[in-house]
Amino acid sequence: MKRSTGLVGALLPLSVLALAPRAEANSMVTHVWVAEQSITQIEPGPLRDIVADPALRGVIQNGAIYPDSGYSVRHEYGEWAHWESWVEPYLQWIRGRWGSEGYRSADARRHVAFLLGCAAHSMTDQTFDQYFMARARQHDRTGADNLDIGSDAWLVVEHGVTSEADGRFWVDELPGIHAAVGGPAVTPAVLTEAGSLTSAGTRFLVRFGHTLYTARWREMPWSASHYMDPDTPGAYPHLVSTTAAYWRFLWRRLQGDAPPGAAPIYSWPSPDQVNFPVGRDDIESRVVVTTPWGLDDASVNDTTVRILGPDDAPVPAQVSRYGDHGNTLMIRSTADLAYDTAYRVELSASLRTLEGSLTGTARSIPFRTRCAPDRLAMCPPLPTPRPTLAAPPVSTPRPPPGLDAGSGTVVIEPDDAGAVVVDAGEALDAATLDAPAALDAGAAAPPATEGCGCRAGGSGSGASGGAGLVLVGLAGLVRSRRRRALSAGAS
Ligand SMILES: [Zn+2]
Repeated sequence: MKRSTGLVGALLPLSVLALAPRAEANSMVTHVWVAEQSITQIEPGPLRDIVADPALRGVIQNGAIYPDSGYSVRHEYGEWAHWESWVEPYLQWIRGRWGSEGYRSADARRHVAFLLGCAAHSMTDQTFDQYFMARARQHDRTGADNLDIGSDAWLVVEHGVTSEADGRFWVDELPGIHAAVGGPAVTPAVLTEAGSLTSAGTRFLVRFGHTLYTARWREMPWSASHYMDPDTPGAYPHLVSTTAAYWRFLWRRLQGDAPPGAAPIYSWPSPDQVNFPVGRDDIESRVVVTTPWGLDDASVNDTTVRILGPDDAPVPAQVSRYGDHGNTLMIRSTADLAYDTAYRVELSASLRTLEGSLTGTARSIPFRTRCAPDRLAMCPPLPTPRPTLAAPPVSTPRPPPGLDAGSGTVVIEPDDAGAVVVDAGEALDAATLDAPAALDAGAAAPPATEGCGCRAGGSGSGASGGAGLVLVGLAGLVRSRRRRALSAGAS
């Protein structure tokens, strides 16, 4: 595709993203969107009263970008805040102060909202990475390094999603909370810079993510055509439902009545699933389980997390966990499963939660494998095969209002080299964009907020820092999460 000079200029900041080390998980537009969508799934009641409170909307949004903000300034709190290493002690810190009053005071409500925003980020990353991104790597034959930014671009273009997170964290309050719960030391200056960079990067993606739309489609056609598919494990509808389930359970944890042996909130296979694949190299045959508690690393191994077959014989398998005190377990059998056979995933009663309790209840997820090719009539019909590069998916992009992107359907066809090319009908008309304009947009002052409850973090360095800060921030946002990449790679 021929690109104008202006388009190249507009792509410059985003090319920083593309050239950055491998990225994982989701980007900021997605995180804010998932948190907001999850609100709509919470039933009427005290929890809904908090998450749906318009005065707390900005707090939840800022919670939803808080973990990645640490990456923007290359501070260790970013990784730490991604997991129950932050969620559990922060939850207990909140409970110790306001549990007895039922979280009715303004301070209690804003902290619960911030906790839930952070938890939404955590659950979104875990679910997307281990259920969806793992498939993207196999189906799109890609490292998926650009999937986080790409899926943000698709969300912006196809669904008109925006983000208003202003990054104004409680910079005078959070350092003390970090210290109280044993987290990495932060200063108001660090959090001010991190919030400014992250919110600026988010606004940049909202405004200019469309310039990456087609390129990311070309690179990851399976992902582009499945990220919103409810039948695809870990696709966006599951990010929302899993986050909402996590929120419900965190609310019980805040009350102190959450059972240690609670059932998983999401899994592949789902309970009583049929036609489970048998090939050990097929990503669809990898078991993934999401628990509503963070689990104590020391209690997770191949004797406490197993796949059991006929006569309760354990299947040889590799067990791994995601992240520092994450909620996600991966079990990969090292041998092919048998056709048309009942199995079950079993979580032992001797698993321990991060809060310190034995789960005390064994949990089983029964499932059955598919029939052999010559005996298909003995099993329920197999699902329609997912599109492949040989049978390409199709999408109709809908650009943001005011942009003339044409109306052509994106059709992906194999080229002579077996790769794919994209004919977008008419290219996105981004020729009017240039680098200075893009950077200005990225560094624009945050929109005015009302009732966020967040304490303003200085003047907002993003407004004065300009292009350089945005670039640094964007690069930082996609810096490698080496630990998780290693964990994912080992699974
Ligand atoms: Zn993240």
